Amino acid sequence: METFNLARKWLNKCLNNHSSDCKVATVPELPPRVLDVSLAQRTGQVQLYITSEGAVKAANYLALSYCWGQVHSITTTKSTIEDRRKGISMSELPRTIRDAVKVTIELGYQYLWVDRLCILQGTDSESLDDWKYQCGLMEQIYGQATVTISASAVEDPEGGLFLPRRFALKVAIRETGGAWREEPVLLSCARPSKKSYDEEPINTRAWTMQEYLLSPRVLVYSTRTVTWVCSSGFFKEPLEGNEGVHWSREYIQRLSAINNGYDWHTLVTNYCTRNLSRNNDKLTAFAGIARRFHKQRAKASDRYLAGIWKAQIARDLLWIRVAPAHITTGATFYNPSQHSTSICSTEEYRAPSWSWASIDGGISYPPFTQAASRRSATRILRAETHLENLDEYGSVTGGEIEARGSLLPGWLNFEDSQTGPWVMVDVKSGSEAVTHKKKLGYAFLDDKDGIQRASGNIFCLNLVISGKFVYGLILISVPEKPGYFTRVGVVRIQRAELASKEAPDETIVIL
Ligand SMILES: [Zn+2]
Repeated sequence: METFNLARKWLNKCLNNHSSDCKVATVPELPPRVLDVSLAQRTGQVQLYITSEGAVKAANYLALSYCWGQVHSITTTKSTIEDRRKGISMSELPRTIRDAVKVTIELGYQYLWVDRLCILQGTDSESLDDWKYQCGLMEQIYGQATVTISASAVEDPEGGLFLPRRFALKVAIRETGGAWREEPVLLSCARPSKKSYDEEPINTRAWTMQEYLLSPRVLVYSTRTVTWVCSSGFFKEPLEGNEGVHWSREYIQRLSAINNGYDWHTLVTNYCTRNLSRNNDKLTAFAGIARRFHKQRAKASDRYLAGIWKAQIARDLLWIRVAPAHITTGATFYNPSQHSTSICSTEEYRAPSWSWASIDGGISYPPFTQAASRRSATRILRAETHLENLDEYGSVTGGEIEARGSLLPGWLNFEDSQTGPWVMVDVKSGSEAVTHKKKLGYAFLDDKDGIQRASGNIFCLNLVISGKFVYGLILISVPEKPGYFTRVGVVRIQRAELASKEAPDETIVIL
């Protein structure tokens, strides 16, 4: 097929002619298990290869990134692993995996990594341990794959890679003065796809973000086109026979984001717009990105705390929930008074209240001005998380931040639903100490439950001063646990408003 030739051409160019970022220095270690496709054409079967038990320990391999969808198709479990080693008939594989086997063969490789067949699926402890262990390897597995095949356009593994992308018609043509003859002509739309990158099914899923970002080369099978993305650029299928080379800053930035110092907040903001089948995977499905970020960008001495970097903790703590309808634009912050239902599931513990991983849905960050921002007088004395599986980038069972600062008491006012909710405070003025009720600042609340929980007193802990605003956390106290608080939102206060209001410093713990 024509696209195979193109993919081979892209791959050869990438490995031989592109900049040093694209060069492969060494043959990588194989993941713990891979599919061996070497017999597929002769026997119609692929085999599950167990690296620790085989002779080959290192080899180039491809990886697949796709949406799991709702389709229940073939997996590897404790009870089927021996059968999978003997052979899996190609006809048993869902279409996308079958197509990925074809791409692997066409590009001249023997091994393919596909999560559902290479990680044990099941709820027994051995399978769960295998899953946790391999989740910690995602940065390595996708990072060292020669090419990641991305099934971008389809919502489940039956969708396949090779979708009809354009029409070929036989048209009678005649050169000037020559004879008429029939030739196939490719017709393509001037706008190949109305769907934008963000609307492709694969870009609505949480797990696939790290699969894309961590891969050095991605062969993207999207709705109507095939694209090659690597550190040197973004190459599209030709529309008129010439090889098209199209640069798109957006794509390249997304791909090389972590290597080239893309902002952490941008990564988190994009990630939080995506969906998870199991919301409790929120930190796990992002662990590879955090691991790579720490390697490339953050200082080695820095610490990752459930989605937040200790070195920039004040800014990282000030994530703000955005309205579901505004997730993609990020333009409007979440105003709970206009949204009647909570989309935050709280049945199972997921993260401390100060982590964005504790809520579902999109988030944003205040528009901090880099030059004009600084920390407030609040001091963070201690910040730690309790890890679930010893993976410092993975899921957590708890977390605490101990802070010392001025804790300003107040309450929330929802009366002005157009511009509110507001954080209200009592202000004493004049020598007679007359108390006024005064709007202190705008409240960005985390969820609907937060409103109910915050119906009584709240406290504001300022963290960052940026331009004319001060940003802080809105906290409520934990019942019967003096000195302990949980986060319910973020407050934005005009600096001028704050001048006259002070409270004594306290040491508190935020859970
Ligand atoms: Zn390249």
